[in-house]
Amino acid sequence: MRGTMTTRHPAIDDLLGRLGVAGLIVDPADCARYAADLSGEPGAVPVAVLRPADTDAVADALRICRRHGLPIVPQGGRTGLSGGAVCLEGNAVLSLERMSGVIAVDPDAMTMCVWAGTPLQTVQERARAVGLDYPVDIGSRGSATIGGTIATNAGGIRVVRHGMTRQHILGLEVVLPDGTVLDGLGELLKDNAGYDLKHLFIGSEGTLGIVTRAILRLVPATVRTNTALLGLAGFDTALSLLTSARRHFGADLVAFEGMWPSYWDFVCGEARLARSPLAGRHGIYALVETAHDRSDGEAAFEGWLGEQLQAGRVEDGVIAQSLAETRAIWSVREAVGDVDPALGPHVNFDLGIAPRLLGRFVEACDAALGRLGVRRSLHLGHIGDGNLHLLVATGHEQPCSAHAIETAVYGLVEEWSGTVTAEHGVGTIKRQWLARCRTENQLAAMRQLKGLFDPDGLLNPGKVV
Ligand SMILES: Cc1cc2nc3c(=O)[nH]c(=O)nc-3n(C[C@H](O)[C@H](O)[C@H](O)COP(=O)(O)OP(=O)(O)OC[C@H]3O[C@@H](n4cnc5c(N)ncnc54)[C@H](O)[C@@H]3O)c2cc1C
Repeated sequence: MRGTMTTRHPAIDDLLGRLGVAGLIVDPADCARYAADLSGEPGAVPVAVLRPADTDAVADALRICRRHGLPIVPQGGRTGLSGGAVCLEGNAVLSLERMSGVIAVDPDAMTMCVWAGTPLQTVQERARAVGLDYPVDIGSRGSATIGGTIATNAGGIRVVRHGMTRQHILGLEVVLPDGTVLDGLGELLKDNAGYDLKHLFIGSEGTLGIVTRAILRLVPATVRTNTALLGLAGFDTALSLLTSARRHFGADLVAFEGMWPSYWDFVCGEARLARSPLAGRHGIYALVETAHDRSDGEAAFEGWLGEQLQAGRVEDGVIAQSLAETRAIWSVREAVGDVDPALGPHVNFDLGIAPRLLGRFVEACDAALGRLGVRRSLHLGHIGDGNLHLLVATGHEQPCSAHAIETAVYGLVEEWSGTVTAEHGVGTIKRQWLARCRTENQLAAMRQLKGLFDPDGLLNPGKVV
């Protein structure tokens, strides 16, 4: 953590007058916990932490900050992994933590209106209470906020079936850097009246405006799920299994996750973060989940798996017979959230590569990292979405720098027409690598857009573009 506040910023008195004592933190010791997110990027202690309680207060606070030239970093749950919510030197933080709660649920229209600071898990639980579901799901669900998931267009473990956050946003209320409120809290599924402005803010990582409220689109709750963990010979088998599962289950296929032996052996062996539900060792491990409301769904799942076993595609597998077993299977995949202490310092890549190329891309990465003398990298990902999470250790025993590792991996991403971030966002960490997956013309258009919404560059400066 860098820096502490030495002199009182001239904006503080005006902000205090508008937000009150409950709405403003200025003590550096209290501000310090808002310095960074979970990316590992060091943050600076904010000049102040603004905690507005409603949309008008956000608008007024932004007007005051603009008048005083005070840059603002929007923050939700600070679970971001790209440094998008990290506070830079001389910036203030605008936290949505007081703007939390479900405003209304309409079970017939299958919509929910929420404040942006509401934790994702709260939204999921409120939806389930009326027999519905909000299908965006990520490991950080307890702390990540709806506003943060919208600002990062979060993906997660059910994208194969439900898509990214973008697919579930019907309406947005956004405050622009100059305090203008864009009230787009509509519930219309079809609305082609000009530019669909909400989509500009979804995935903009707090650089164009502050999301204050949202209308979410809910789906019917899943009645039953079937979950299996399978040991396979290698990636090509996983790919043909994915194709078969897609054809067989259609929209019932919810998740198709892959874990390479590098990850599996580390999590279930050396680091002892989870217990392996399978006895032997395999070339790759696939977690397959379907959801359905048919009484014959379970038999269909078992039948399909039986066919795969007979065809020799599956070497070994277990099907969860209870909720506890489902959780045990998922615990191996979700242990990625706990690898930090055991793995030590590492570069956390969130790459997007066409699913059909993923296996060969991993081999190319391994070869390139091997040439650099890298001793440990863990591979896992959402195979169905072509999203590879690659964790490369950079501890003191590594003979090369983190920058050399990033240069090698992002060079391959460019070569293989991938993306430097499939779901975590650009933030501060990937900003310098954006040109590996965006053309100069695309970058210029992004900069123009940023200049249009935020001509003074006061909203989340140093992030994305
Ligand atoms: C264990 C774990 C698992 C994870 N799994 C996934 C996963 O599967 N998929 C995935 O996509 N991500 C995942 N993440 C990353 C992270 O949880 C998501 O990016 C999440 O969407 C961030 O939400 P947040 O509220 O914590 O946002 P923050 O970290 O606070 O902020 C993230 C970005 O959004 C901006 N922002 C926040 N709130 C607002 C707002 N109201 N208006 C405008 N801008 C705003 C911030 O400025 C920043 O740029 C995971 C993280 C952890 C720790």
